[in-house]
Amino acid sequence: MSSKYDALVSRANTVLCQSYGRYPLAIEKAVGCRMYDLDGREYVDLLAGIAVINLGHSNPELLAVMREQAEQLIHVSNLFYQPRQVELAEKLLATTTLLDRAFFCNSGAEANEAAIKLARRYMRCVRYKDAGEIITLEGSFHGRTLATLTATGQGGRIKEGFEPLPEGFRTAPFGDAEALRAMVSQKTAAVMIEMVQGEGGVLPLPQDYATAVQEICREAGCLLIVDEIQTGLCRTGKFWAHQHYGLSPDIVTVAKGLANGLPMGAMMAKEYVAKAFVPGTHATTFGGGGVLAAVASKVVDIMVRDDLAGRAAKVGAQAVEAIRKLQDKHPGKIKIIRGLGLMIGIELTFDGGEVHKALRDRGFVCNLAHGRVLRLLPPLVIPVEDLLAFAAALDDILTKA
Ligand code: PLP
Repeated sequence: MSSKYDALVSRANTVLCQSYGRYPLAIEKAVGCRMYDLDGREYVDLLAGIAVINLGHSNPELLAVMREQAEQLIHVSNLFYQPRQVELAEKLLATTTLLDRAFFCNSGAEANEAAIKLARRYMRCVRYKDAGEIITLEGSFHGRTLATLTATGQGGRIKEGFEPLPEGFRTAPFGDAEALRAMVSQKTAAVMIEMVQGEGGVLPLPQDYATAVQEICREAGCLLIVDEIQTGLCRTGKFWAHQHYGLSPDIVTVAKGLANGLPMGAMMAKEYVAKAFVPGTHATTFGGGGVLAAVASKVVDIMVRDDLAGRAAKVGAQAVEAIRKLQDKHPGKIKIIRGLGLMIGIELTFDGGEVHKALRDRGFVCNLAHGRVLRLLPPLVIPVEDLLAFAAALDDILTKA
């Protein structure tokens, strides 16, 4: 590592809270599907800021909208009607055909907070039921605020030391419909699921289980919330991952790539549920501000115009085909390849730390989940050649592993 890097890390370790395990890499600039470190070394970005930079870094069309809107209106708050925000809601809801209203916020965790609050308030104030319980799945990840970390179906450092945790959250075993049926009761406000568990190691829900979850919710009269914070916005090969499964959730949350790197989230709900929010019940200062909404609106336009869902399906399948060949070529090294569209997990049979490092040394940045799963979440505009070059590098690394 260079002296520039060492000096920066030393300053960072002095002034920043140490809550992140960071890669030994300092990024100074990023353009398209490439990132550059302090010494100008180039990396292929297969992580996209954790499924955020879907349209590439510094996308020129988005930069133009950002500049134009910044001169027009940056922020006035939700005490006012704002044309860009309404426009965005119309466009975003049109991609779902099932959802009627949107609430804009600043992150994924906040979108899930909004969903949890809406589900509880709907039960109490529309249905007059004392039902506040939220059931999530083992292995899930829903955020880091107190409510969303409690909802998260993982243990360890996510929850450790933050007690007392809020009440009213339960975790159901992954993929077990009968166990879920037994847990859902008159006290349940909602079941919240991810269609593909991202932080959980890229685990798609089995189709029959997903169908059963919706049936169980309908039978019990509780709501179905789908957390599409990572899977939404074309990532999995459809605009929304629940569309692969033929589900009709009552509430859907999204964030990550909504404004391609500007902090933005949204909670969308069906009309009968959304009416539980009345003035004074939920709010945020920045949500859906001018620049955020204008950029997100352009993001949705580009996704539809360029059929990025179709592209994610096609390019994702090409990448998986190349990686599957490695599974045959290196028996006993790749346990399983999972994913949907451009959300790809390669589970190794051994600790992946060295492989992850070797990929970085060769100029490929991806994520390592749970120590063994190489997780690829590249920009949706990534050239297939970059993914094939990644597969070639992995081939070489596995040969030597
Ligand atoms: N839900 C899911 C499925 C996520 O993947 C994440 C973030 O990784 C979150 C919620 C939390 O989003 P944020 O980090 O924007 O709060």
